[in-house]
Amino acid sequence: MDTRKKIAILGAGFGGLRVAKVLAQNIRTLNLLKKYEVLLIDKSDRHTYTPLLYEIATTSKEIATLFDLHSVAAYNTLKLLKNTCIRFIKNEIAHIDPVGGAITLADGEEIKCQYIVLALGSEANYFNIPGLKEYALPFKTFSDAIRIRDTVWDIAMENPGDMRIAIGGGGSTGVELAAEFKNLCGQLEKDRGCGLKVTLIESSACVLQGLDRRIVEIATKRLEKLGVNVATGEKISMIEKNRVVFADGGKIDFDVFIWTGGVKAPTLLSRMQIQTENQNRAIVGEGMECLPQTPRLKLASQIYGLGDSICFYDPITKRPIPGVARAAISQASVIAWNITQEVRAAENPSYTPKFKTYKPREYPYIIPVGGKFATAKIGPIILGGTFGWILKGLVELSYLFSIMPSIKALQIWLKGLSIFLRNEKLG
Ligand SMILES: Cc1cc2nc3c(=O)[nH]c(=O)nc-3n(C[C@H](O)[C@H](O)[C@H](O)COP(=O)(O)OP(=O)(O)OC[C@H]3O[C@@H](n4cnc5c(N)ncnc54)[C@H](O)[C@@H]3O)c2cc1C
Repeated sequence: MDTRKKIAILGAGFGGLRVAKVLAQNIRTLNLLKKYEVLLIDKSDRHTYTPLLYEIATTSKEIATLFDLHSVAAYNTLKLLKNTCIRFIKNEIAHIDPVGGAITLADGEEIKCQYIVLALGSEANYFNIPGLKEYALPFKTFSDAIRIRDTVWDIAMENPGDMRIAIGGGGSTGVELAAEFKNLCGQLEKDRGCGLKVTLIESSACVLQGLDRRIVEIATKRLEKLGVNVATGEKISMIEKNRVVFADGGKIDFDVFIWTGGVKAPTLLSRMQIQTENQNRAIVGEGMECLPQTPRLKLASQIYGLGDSICFYDPITKRPIPGVARAAISQASVIAWNITQEVRAAENPSYTPKFKTYKPREYPYIIPVGGKFATAKIGPIILGGTFGWILKGLVELSYLFSIMPSIKALQIWLKGLSIFLRNEKLG
């Protein structure tokens, strides 16, 4: 029987993968592999690079197979863990019991853990809008992107004529998807005589609400130039089959409706005895530790949380940190450090742990807006155009370098570039 203490990282996305890799390396360096085991658990056996999902959803079936698209945007997690001492478990987490110190998998297996890291990301939030969950396609995962592509393609094949795509939510994912559909539009027009009308619906007064005003202006102009119909200040009250109904009584008909308008943390977090907010996100302290529901509650496992699953209030702005990959990765480093300190203190009572606190900062961001065009904010610098698009590619490459061998990273990156450039030419 394996009596090693378990450090369970739940979710192998941006944050979870980073925590697992750093921690496993630290445990090895401390020569504690006989005493501790790092587990990485995910319901999917693929690690998805989400910034490429808009390309996946809009790449023609004639340009790339499902296999090609998997290889460029959703990487085999087991292969990413080669030469590490991490045990990967492909399974869904059904329940987390911080008081008993155990997690339960979908097949009923229970695993006792000394440390738990919540890195479960987020899921679509439908805000109880009638008909939304029923008629909308979500846009969160690789499978969602493929479903969108297949749905659009199938409709185009079956009903040549004009097709109407409506996208609910004018945040960055909605903007990049709406803009990129122009590629598909060009091809559908050429091949099938099928026109494509894309409407982006946003309840705020502008798209990319909350981002720098200059970024909003650049993106809005670009969307207009591409011919995307931008409907701002429109609150969706109901979705019917093929129809969006607005609070003011207005209506838009659609053939495909895609929802990018909100996310929440997985529901299983709200069933744990830890503090959560109204979107199920775990509230964490400055060392990324989750807080017990009541001050007297004693948690058996030390629990940390990161990324889209948590809510961390920026001490300066007093606002929650946005759910972006960069934040999840920074938080992962803090958690890996703090768990290592706890392990060292547990193994050597004379060791005084030195814990780190998470210091949020303004993360740079890049928003692709159709073809070889992206707008970006890096510190005070604002970019818009081809240079932004090149930067986006370099960020992707540097992420690939950080998770796999350099040659493999370069091969995957070049393959993706070639697919997406060929797809764009069709537009
Ligand atoms: C379309 C799209 C585009 C995006 N573009 C960008 C971008 O350009 N730049 C950027 O910074 N951010 C972007 N984001 C946001 C970014 O992807 C998230 O902020 C980031 O993934 C959060 O990392 P995470 O580690 O918290 O969770 P994730 O990376 O989402 O990982 C969560 C993991 O948990 C697993 N999981 C969930 N529930 C369970 C369960 N019950 N059992 C087992 N496993 C489970 C999931 O399978 C997943 O692998 C984008 C998101 C989307 C959807």
